[in-house]
Amino acid sequence: MSISLAVFNTLGLQQSCSSFVEVTHKAELVETCKDLYKQQLPMLILGGGSNVVFTDDFDGTVVKVATKGIQVTEDTDYYYLSVQAGENWHNLVEFCLNKQIYGLENLALIPGTVGAAPIQNIGAYGVEFNRFCYQVEFLQLDTGTLNHFDKDQCHFGYRDSIFKQQLKNLVVITEVTLRLNKQWQPIINYGPLQHFDPAQVTAKQIFDSVCKVRQAKLPDPKVLGNVGSFFKNPIVSSTCYELLKSRYAELVGYQQIDGRFKIAAGWLIDTAGLKGFNIGNAGVHKDQALVLVNLGNATGAEICQLARHIIQEVYDTFAVILEPEPRIMGSVEEIEIQ
Ligand SMILES: Cc1cc2nc3c(=O)[nH]c(=O)nc-3n(C[C@H](O)[C@H](O)[C@H](O)COP(=O)(O)OP(=O)(O)OC[C@H]3O[C@@H](n4cnc5c(N)ncnc54)[C@H](O)[C@@H]3O)c2cc1C
Repeated sequence: MSISLAVFNTLGLQQSCSSFVEVTHKAELVETCKDLYKQQLPMLILGGGSNVVFTDDFDGTVVKVATKGIQVTEDTDYYYLSVQAGENWHNLVEFCLNKQIYGLENLALIPGTVGAAPIQNIGAYGVEFNRFCYQVEFLQLDTGTLNHFDKDQCHFGYRDSIFKQQLKNLVVITEVTLRLNKQWQPIINYGPLQHFDPAQVTAKQIFDSVCKVRQAKLPDPKVLGNVGSFFKNPIVSSTCYELLKSRYAELVGYQQIDGRFKIAAGWLIDTAGLKGFNIGNAGVHKDQALVLVNLGNATGAEICQLARHIIQEVYDTFAVILEPEPRIMGSVEEIEIQ
């Protein structure tokens, strides 16, 4: 029997899977995944489905992580939150705010689960997950054991971590521990937060402001299917940046510690004339060039075709290579978009 995945992915793609299991306890998550791995059966670990593109029916078991629980401990300087992988990220941000535990407010309204947060080191409004990461617990599939990494072992980078690289498909994240400083410092150096006075601003004001800006800027997946930003902001050499800057005075670049420059993928797509461009039912959002949307019954193949077209056009125009942010799923495993 096939089970529809349409409500389990924020692009609303009408793909299905041959088997589906929702797990609500850590022990069940561990046993289910150990079993499937032992039997060498294709499995896909799914959180909120806000960072996946299904290009085909999945010929295997989708394990939906719905484990719940938040435990708070503290020492003199910090709060520690041990959170089950299936908790909703935004609910966690609200939970903290209500408990007067501050720091996560810039990351409000990012869809998805806590277990997926370390994978691409979620980030928004000048803050990334790794700032608060204390420990990530995971099931190592080949040994069937629960292990954990501290922050440094996770090799966090921009939308990147060891879980997307060396440990891809080899582990299932079961629990995440965050550490939040009791001496809260607002982070308000990013665009729409810059008007706040650091001496006066509250975490709630930052939270409200981030929610308001996000709701105004990003299409609601319930209305228009999407996975947020479809491409990472490319990081280019200083030579490449200077060359582009000489051609496009309005180009904004953020210098990285290694001297390279991060430039806005949305600006590249927009300037290449692709805002509002469609292939079939897959479209570039009319206001946010970085967001690809399901205009109604789009297939994952159409979304990928559109993404490939964008990558080619941006390359032809600027000689810059765009890299997709979401994970592209084929019939039995993750695939490359190219
Ligand atoms: C409207 C919108 C706005 C967004 N804004 C942002 C943003 O501001 N910043 C940002 O960083 N991202 C953003 N995203 C992307 C997305 O929210 C994040 O990537 C999020 O962390 C994905 O969580 P998820 O639970 O939905 O993961 P899923 O989409 O379910 O899974 C993503 C990948 O992680 C794997 N995975 C999931 N859970 C586990 C686990 N427990 N163990 C092992 N592997 C697992 C899956 O197999 C898959 O490969 C946005 C998405 C949308 C739709």
